[in-house]
Amino acid sequence: MKSEKQIFNIDPTDFAFALVKLLAVFGAMIWGLYHPMSPSAKLFFLILIGFYFVYNLALYLCVFKFADKAPKIYFFELLVDLIFLSVIVPMTGGLNSTFTLGFFLLAAIHSFYYGLFASIGIALLVSGVYIFSCPHCLTQIHWTDISLRAGFLLLLAVTMGYLSERERRMHRQLVNAEQLAAMGLMSSQIAHAVRNPLSTISLSTELLADEIKKCRGVDTREAETLIGSIMSEVQEVNDVVEEHLKFMRKSKSEYRNSDVNALLDSLIKFLEKEASHKGISFLKELERNLPNARIEESRLRQIMLNIMRNSFEAMPAGGQIRVYTKKEKDGVEITVEDTGVGISRENLRRVFEPFFTTKDVGTGLGLYIARDMVITAGGGISCESKVNKGTKVKIRLPFMS
Ligand code: ADP
Ligand code: MG
Repeated sequence: MKSEKQIFNIDPTDFAFALVKLLAVFGAMIWGLYHPMSPSAKLFFLILIGFYFVYNLALYLCVFKFADKAPKIYFFELLVDLIFLSVIVPMTGGLNSTFTLGFFLLAAIHSFYYGLFASIGIALLVSGVYIFSCPHCLTQIHWTDISLRAGFLLLLAVTMGYLSERERRMHRQLVNAEQLAAMGLMSSQIAHAVRNPLSTISLSTELLADEIKKCRGVDTREAETLIGSIMSEVQEVNDVVEEHLKFMRKSKSEYRNSDVNALLDSLIKFLEKEASHKGISFLKELERNLPNARIEESRLRQIMLNIMRNSFEAMPAGGQIRVYTKKEKDGVEITVEDTGVGISRENLRRVFEPFFTTKDVGTGLGLYIARDMVITAGGGISCESKVNKGTKVKIRLPFMS
């Protein structure tokens, strides 16, 4: 479900690309204004950059408006930018022009966008245009220099492609983990729901069999056979349901003893790199000598990951996540507080509902699963939030007895 208040629907990657492009064009304008060259060359250069600026504005408006067409638009952008650079480079000093660095920028941005495999093709295309952007300059520069520059460009493209691939894989894994956990949870709920009518059917069938036995002078053999087959089918369904519930109970009662501080330490370490890329800092205030909590460690990890992932997503422009633990009378308290966009009052009531999401690619299951796991462990979870100030999610878990 999407919030009605969501007016802008801009992907952070598209926004970052637009910003990089804007800064690059701005830098080129300043260069054109102050770089020593003849007045006519300066005028021509500035007009060209002006057109290029307007073209980029139109291009990114298209990217924001037609997000589903973004891969095609970015490919078009790559081709136009390559043509643009091959006009600018010969004008500004050939292969030694500062504008050749633009080829590296193009290779980096597009490799990040299209991923690892495409990055090799992009690097070959960009370095080809780079080398032949000024054919007559090729005699001024030794082939070893040309090869090394193309090699650096290839390395940069592949590195960016690899990083984006890794980020996408991590995101997919998290979404899959949420979906798997939710499916397990729902199948248990269905099993529970089926068990009650099943026992009613079984009991009623037994009573019916008794009633049939009382009938005198009627041939009841056919009825008894039918009742026998109903009973055996009911037994079969019952066995399947019991087996499933037993399996779920077993997986819930595995190792339940978590060192909360150690887990938070390792989780924050795991997320810190991604956080710093997103301009997010962690502030940790973990109480010393905190008793262990009675919950399986992998579950606590999943809960905290779901909560922190939400904080990440609530701070597209960066911010701070404060994580603190406290020993309370009846258990361990973990609080995650962010400085993100916050949650409106009407949405706050619904955040723990299954499938409630305000995100384009959200599952709406993160907090639902977290809540279910916390409650199964005998604890509680709450969420407070102020729009544009931030959100605080608090979890209470019982001590390990
Ligand atoms: P999802 O993240 O897939 O949308 P969740 O169950 O994790 O599903 O969260 C449900 C909704 O609660 C989110 O879509 C979002 O609107 C809101 N929400 C949860 N945590 C935060 C947070 N830290 N800051 C702002 N909104 C949040
Ligand atoms: Mg979530």
